[in-house]
Amino acid sequence: MHIANEERLLEALTPNERRALDGASRKLLASLETETFTARDSSDREVQMEITRNSVETKPGSGEWFTGKVYLDAVAAPIGASRLSATSVHFTPGARTHWHTHPNGQTIYVTEGVGLAQCRGGPIEVIRPGDRVFFEPGEEHWHGASPNRFMTHLAMLEVDDEGNNATWGDPVTDEEYGGDA
Ligand code: MN
Repeated sequence: MHIANEERLLEALTPNERRALDGASRKLLASLETETFTARDSSDREVQMEITRNSVETKPGSGEWFTGKVYLDAVAAPIGASRLSATSVHFTPGARTHWHTHPNGQTIYVTEGVGLAQCRGGPIEVIRPGDRVFFEPGEEHWHGASPNRFMTHLAMLEVDDEGNNATWGDPVTDEEYGGDA
């Protein structure tokens, strides 16, 4: 099976799955190509592996949410009953999120470079590849690159009942970003 457009994808869904798709999900799905590979396992059961070829372009991060230049690659998007959202976020030196919270918390996993992260009222922590940070639900925080290094992290969270992934606040000022680090 090879799905190359939205109509054919929608045909493959159950009516309930179709209703659960919002406009953004439909648009994202329409830009993906999914291939299903069928095989037989050792018990002669039919098994399937699905590969989604990502043809979504890297998106610049919005100035409403980020200071400096940030680029986003979609890794997983909520669809139907799945609430998982995962994004590979590339921060250029000095770039960072605004202050924000996540309804169900968030895990970030640093894959490249050197970054900084801070919870409101806490110290600025340096984060490096292999480091993992969990921000609790509703905890106000920011994360970004260090002043002179790029930083890439995988950001993983579960959206809430309404599909919200974050509540955004004020930018992290240069004074806050400089902090005591
Ligand atoms: Mn966050």
